[in-house]
Amino acid sequence: MSTVGPDLRMVTTPEHPGLYVYAPVDPRRPFARLAGQPFASYACRCGHVRRGRGRAEVDDVIRESQCHPTTCTRNKASSATA
Ligand SMILES: [Zn+2]
Repeated sequence: MSTVGPDLRMVTTPEHPGLYVYAPVDPRRPFARLAGQPFASYACRCGHVRRGRGRAEVDDVIRESQCHPTTCTRNKASSATA
């Protein structure tokens, strides 16, 4: 049996918004290094989607997941009408 990484297109979408980060860790040295290339996916209800592979891009996706809600027009609209 072979295990395939999760399909990024199915992880986070505007219909299933959120931040998903996958970082394969070497179980023998969990804090020393990653066993493979990490990736991340972030999706917002407004339709904004950001994905990245590699540590630098994953950092960008995580940062965007924190910054985007403050600028998201969908969030502002929903909080204004709610
Ligand atoms: Zn948004």
